[in-house]
Amino acid sequence: MKTHKLLFFKIILILYMIISFTLGVCGQSRNVNQSQLIMNTIGKPENPYYSHTDTTKLNLSDAEWKKILPEDLYEVSRHAATERPFTGKYWNADLKGTYYCAACGNELFRSEAKFASTCGWPSFFEQENEKSTVFRKDSSLGMIRIEVLCGRCGGHLGHIFDDGPPPTGKRYCMNSIALNFMPD
Ligand SMILES: [Zn+2]
Repeated sequence: MKTHKLLFFKIILILYMIISFTLGVCGQSRNVNQSQLIMNTIGKPENPYYSHTDTTKLNLSDAEWKKILPEDLYEVSRHAATERPFTGKYWNADLKGTYYCAACGNELFRSEAKFASTCGWPSFFEQENEKSTVFRKDSSLGMIRIEVLCGRCGGHLGHIFDDGPPPTGKRYCMNSIALNFMPD
């Protein structure tokens, strides 16, 4: 009788541990996704040019961008700063959805074109459409690289390399801060 009771308590204890662990882990990841989602659905009242539908090219002065962009985005988008690897919000994100330019809302990448890269920045093998991005030769920092700019606002997004996966073999190496993700 005593051993039966003991066994019963042991089973209850194990079940309790399994349930609380599962809930804890799921609860945590749900919280992250939820807060990410809420952050991304907040409008940008301070930026009247931000739009997911208007494709008119933007030609704003540096002073105007400085007024409407958050400081960290302004430094990347307008002065080609680079965020530290493994620090951005999207380098290991794998939710289904669309990545827009954080400065102007231009459609840049679909999550289907994103791949797990070890470089610490969100990486894509192709852009969403031919107007998504434009390229420019960049010979800063003693290297010859191809800079990737937003096709609508001309903001700096990152660089493109030839070491990506099939079918394109390209790796669009982007700054998370320059992207705005909207889940499907
Ligand atoms: Zn843009």
